[in-house]
Amino acid sequence: MSMTASPLAVAAGLGDVLQLFRTQPTLTRADVMAQTGLSRSTVNQRLDALLGAALVVPSGEGAPTGGRPASRFAFNSDRGVLLVADIGASGMRIALCNLRGEVRHEREQDIDVADGPSPVLTAVDSAFRALLASAGCDPADVHGIGIDVPGPVDFDSGQVVSPPIMSGWDRYDIPAWFTGRYDCPVLVDKDVNAMAVGEHRSVHPHVRQLLMIKAGTGIGAGMIIDGGVYRGADGAAGDIGHIQLSVVPDRLAGPGPLAGSGLAGSGLAGPGLAGPGLAGPGLAGPGLAGPGLAGPGLAGPGLAGPGLAGPGLAGPGLAGSGLAGSGFAGSGTRSAFGGEGEPVCRCGNTGCVEAYAGGWALVRDLTEAGRNVRTVSDAVALIRTGDVTAVRLARRAGRILGHAIADSVSLLNPSVVVVGGQLAEIEEQLFAGIREMVYRRSLPLATRKLTIVATTLGPRSGLVGMALLLADSIFAPPRVETLIARQ
Ligand SMILES: [Zn+2]
Repeated sequence: MSMTASPLAVAAGLGDVLQLFRTQPTLTRADVMAQTGLSRSTVNQRLDALLGAALVVPSGEGAPTGGRPASRFAFNSDRGVLLVADIGASGMRIALCNLRGEVRHEREQDIDVADGPSPVLTAVDSAFRALLASAGCDPADVHGIGIDVPGPVDFDSGQVVSPPIMSGWDRYDIPAWFTGRYDCPVLVDKDVNAMAVGEHRSVHPHVRQLLMIKAGTGIGAGMIIDGGVYRGADGAAGDIGHIQLSVVPDRLAGPGPLAGSGLAGSGLAGPGLAGPGLAGPGLAGPGLAGPGLAGPGLAGPGLAGPGLAGPGLAGPGLAGSGLAGSGFAGSGTRSAFGGEGEPVCRCGNTGCVEAYAGGWALVRDLTEAGRNVRTVSDAVALIRTGDVTAVRLARRAGRILGHAIADSVSLLNPSVVVVGGQLAEIEEQLFAGIREMVYRRSLPLATRKLTIVATTLGPRSGLVGMALLLADSIFAPPRVETLIARQ
């Protein structure tokens, strides 16, 4: 980011000057003049206002001594605190942060988001009070509250909108709940947006385009476009878990839970399967010859050809009796699958990405395969033991997820794709499939410099990102004058 560019020189109001202090450790008056193009007298005026409001303080060696004026100044990140809650389906992380959005005190707590807004927000507030007490602060010190939730959010109003897993939260006004309890702004965002910001700012600050994938119970995406979060017109952007891949997963799966009537039918023989898209190592191999896939549809010219030969996608892992056995292709799967042979999704549609690759779908498929798996954590643990069926399902999930990511890469051309969420813990199994599909399906220009990595912040990415989003929002240049006027 160039601080000497002209836009600041044009504006350079109080908020713009504060922005310089927020993004750099310390500055002199001359630094501010150089970076804004403002005159010395205007810089002095701005600085006096910021010093008067204690938003900026004298710093370090330049602190005033014996009547000599300070020469260096810094953002006063301890002028107050920020409170942040990262709410998940079954647990939350809560933090007290300084005004840079740096976490100072943090705790974790179990909750059930489906209990509804009132019990959950009451628990959030109790945790906030405890954090304030342990930091020796009180509610008057709170400059802002940030909440992120596992569902779509109308960012301007802070309302949760049509959340699939947050029963009782639809259109709930979260900021209004805090009114009267705290006298500060309340920012609400979708969890994966916060995760994207956390990973971007903390780990990949030099890229401008980043795609964050949350692969947990459900699947979602957060997008950093030109350095900022892209939320879409209605807060619904990034919903890749509910992209419908239709017949595509059938091709990827080999015999298995997807190998119902839909798979063996003519659908597989369509032109979609022919062509160079399927060529190359990896799609077929002996796996496609399994009993579940045999049928007139597969004998068509579309599937023939050298492109389908080769090790990779199928291979013994997907072929053979393991997945084609009764556990998968038998009656156990029927309830979960629609008439087309596609699994029914939590959203009510069939064939969504997360209906194959989400944590809940893995739990469903493993249960149907006779494994004792109740939660996504159980599924992850089983996959890590190397259970053959579990590993196959994880690889399939990776490929299906990779299919959706490949399309996203074609659309957005990100520099980095970060995969987080609970399923990122099975990186080895999941990422092979993701990389395979992304590098095969996306054009070389979009993948030449692309890196696909696992989350660095892990389960803290949402909390860290929400704190940074909140700090940015509180000190957005247009708000700074208001902040000072409130003194
Ligand atoms: Zn869906």
